[in-house]
Amino acid sequence: MGEFDLIARFFQRPARNALVGVGDDCALWQPTPGMQLALSSDMLIEGRHFLSTVYARCLGHKALAVNLSDLAACGAKPCAFTLALALPRVDEVWLDKFSQGLFDLADAHNIELIGGDTTQGPLNICITVMGEVPPGDALLRHTAQAGDHIYVSGTVGDARLALEVFRGHHALDASAMTRARARMEMPTPRVALGMALRGVANACIDISDGLLGDLGHVLQSSHVGAIIHTDWIEESVAISADMQELAFNKRMEFALAGGDDYELLFTAPADQHEWVMQAASDTDTPVTHIGEITHDLGLNIVDAQGLAISRRFASFDHFTS
Ligand code: ADP
Ligand code: MG
Repeated sequence: MGEFDLIARFFQRPARNALVGVGDDCALWQPTPGMQLALSSDMLIEGRHFLSTVYARCLGHKALAVNLSDLAACGAKPCAFTLALALPRVDEVWLDKFSQGLFDLADAHNIELIGGDTTQGPLNICITVMGEVPPGDALLRHTAQAGDHIYVSGTVGDARLALEVFRGHHALDASAMTRARARMEMPTPRVALGMALRGVANACIDISDGLLGDLGHVLQSSHVGAIIHTDWIEESVAISADMQELAFNKRMEFALAGGDDYELLFTAPADQHEWVMQAASDTDTPVTHIGEITHDLGLNIVDAQGLAISRRFASFDHFTS
């Protein structure tokens, strides 16, 4: 099968909202008048971002999910995406499953694939997403304020738990591993929550490299510090039942520095707490209050008694790990 047959068979679908979709030199898209465009790209490389054991359908899902997570973190509404794909060989069964996972998530968010590039080479997937947000409403990293509450959506640590099982450092029974693996391989981008937090949250980021590391980006660009409590790691909706089985120190490490969670970490003024909880319930997304933004720079982790806990774990950084 040649390049053009491959594109036509697996990636070309009739344009819906696009004026021109797959098949011409450029796609044409008419933005909603008055809206700002939000753009983001994320690349996934075999051995670096995913294991060779991952199912093609999960990979199709995850490649788009991590990109949608960036739009979610900005409070943008997803519109369309492009796909640049390098494949070692044409494997029709693999392509069929990959495109299924990709389009299932695209359809769930009512967005379309409008173009891309296809080439032979080591497996590499790069998606660019395009979204829209009303001017001034985008959630950004540099706008956290001292006194803000810090919140996290969903559950954290499960993807790391699955990774540790793959690495042979930890054992889980089959059903627990299925759940943890789903969190690692099929993350849920929190698009609806991000949009519901427009005008409520002060700052927002999605957790890809680990909660503390990603919070660090918010603190640095907002010129503030933070206190993170640990009582929610003892027990809260942010910690899954499978994570509860771990010893506290492991659980804390996975929750705070695990990475690959694709949850939203955001800050909001204390007097917006009810609106935060309203956004959470309107979008069926659990949200947990985990700390406060402080004037004093630095990041302190304190237990329920207010005692400092030392930080021995680092977040993921591609060039230092
Ligand atoms: P060009 O050489 O003009 O850049 P290509 O031959 O690379 O165009 O691609 C042909 C058409 O197919 C273009 O519209 C391009 O956007 C689209 N396309 C290529 N690869 C993909 C892909 N993996 N997914 C979606 N569209 C693709
Ligand atoms: Mg091309």
